[in-house]
Amino acid sequence: MADFSKTFDVLVVGGGNAALCAAITARRGGASVLVLEYAPQAFRGGNSRHTRNLRYMHKQGNDFLTGPYLEDEFWDDLLRVTGGKTNEQLARFMIRKSEDMLDWAIAHGVRFQPPLSGTLSLARTNAFFLGGGKALVNAYYQVARTLGVEIAYDSEVCDLAIRDGRFSSAVVEQNGASRKVRAKTVVVASGGFEANIAWLKEGWGELAENFLIRGTPYNKGRMLRVLLDHGTKRVSEPDQCHAVAIDARAPRFDSGIVTRVDCVCFSIVVNREAKRFYDEGEDIWPKRYAIWGRLVAQQPGQIAYALIDSKSQGLFMPTVFPPIEANTIRELAVKLELDPDALDDTVTVFNRAVRPGVFDSTGLDGCATEGLDPPKTHWARPLDTPPFYGYPLRPGITFTYLGVAVNERAQVIMQDDQPARNIYAAGEIMAGNILGQGYIAGIGMTIGSVFGRIAGEEAARNVSN
Ligand SMILES: Cc1cc2nc3c(=O)[nH]c(=O)nc-3n(C[C@H](O)[C@H](O)[C@H](O)COP(=O)(O)OP(=O)(O)OC[C@H]3O[C@@H](n4cnc5c(N)ncnc54)[C@H](O)[C@@H]3O)c2cc1C
Repeated sequence: MADFSKTFDVLVVGGGNAALCAAITARRGGASVLVLEYAPQAFRGGNSRHTRNLRYMHKQGNDFLTGPYLEDEFWDDLLRVTGGKTNEQLARFMIRKSEDMLDWAIAHGVRFQPPLSGTLSLARTNAFFLGGGKALVNAYYQVARTLGVEIAYDSEVCDLAIRDGRFSSAVVEQNGASRKVRAKTVVVASGGFEANIAWLKEGWGELAENFLIRGTPYNKGRMLRVLLDHGTKRVSEPDQCHAVAIDARAPRFDSGIVTRVDCVCFSIVVNREAKRFYDEGEDIWPKRYAIWGRLVAQQPGQIAYALIDSKSQGLFMPTVFPPIEANTIRELAVKLELDPDALDDTVTVFNRAVRPGVFDSTGLDGCATEGLDPPKTHWARPLDTPPFYGYPLRPGITFTYLGVAVNERAQVIMQDDQPARNIYAAGEIMAGNILGQGYIAGIGMTIGSVFGRIAGEEAARNVSN
């Protein structure tokens, strides 16, 4: 049980990767540290516990990665997906700082697995955690505890006392009671606001009612609201987020990675009117998976259906929900509650438009449609080999980008462009500095790990000065 009567050197708000990196680093820097995690212990670790890998700069391959990934390539990848909506100086700084991340994680109990092959093609750029993000989070909690970091669960921080850019105390709710916690510095690592449907509606309108949230229900953005209300400078927009297509049968929150539907590039995707609406084979899946949440969100009722035939079974990561199966397209339409005539027509027109080519599931191949709008530019094969399969899709929100501005010291920036005196931010809450839009796999953990460690270091230094 944490002793709330004392004044801590560093208060860390949140209990995911960014928070734990900050807490461990601050403690190693000699500070007394309290972590306040909104979730109960069994659900600690925020979205970080759902992760599988991290992207980091490295000069050569190793036991976990097949080759080098240098600053300029990392930067080019980021620039492409963000369309320039990123802070180059801060992003390049983060990329360089990521270089020792793997060693740091290993030194703090995280284990990695040998390079993976498969549809995400990340074997050179991203290191995969053995046991996933949950194992990483558990390792960090273990280290934090051993170092003497105090941790309280079921503890929602509801307010921060901030005056002229200086923090002095926090209000925390525990089991319905409000308590005051004093600290000399604060690191806010409480995630985005993706689990707050009302806030998502500010960016998306009523469409957000049909969104599913892939991660923790505890990231409601309360700290983000408090910081913005206290005059911190904001980055990105309320509708910017990472969103993928997930199985529509997934629960509202916390379904994690197993509901992501990865067959899209081998499928045709139709809306509830049984019409196709986008080129399913535009590019390789790692470069396109993050656009499908948004695409499905723009369809009537925010629902769509990915359809494959038996030829495509086994080419992609299976989902936890088995597909809906039928021996004819008309029968599949009935099972998916689509108009059988309309779906039959869409499939017939698609099949006729497919041109002969050599199918290759591992790279951009020559299988395309001709004279079809929208086209399918790769992996186009007729749906003609039963059984046929359908996956219902909904937008699955991973995390939001609207956040607080920070500098290279992870200091929160106020509206007058001056850094706050003792307030630091790390992880999703400041991800919008790097990600104004778009996403590259594994960068969520880069952002949290790099800025978490910097925030912890800076907060400890601030106290000792
Ligand atoms: C299904 C899924 C898979 C993903 N896979 C990957 C991947 O493989 N690689 C990758 O890089 N990224 C991945 N991401 C994104 C990644 O999870 C995030 O970018 C990263 O974990 C963010 O870390 P964080 O510490 O900022 O936030 P989180 O890990 O979400 O932690 C936020 C914490 O703050 C707590 N909190 C919230 N509000 C309060 C409050 N008011 N008071 C106290 N505590 C509060 C929450 O309970 C939580 O513990 C994935 C996300 C999801 C949902």
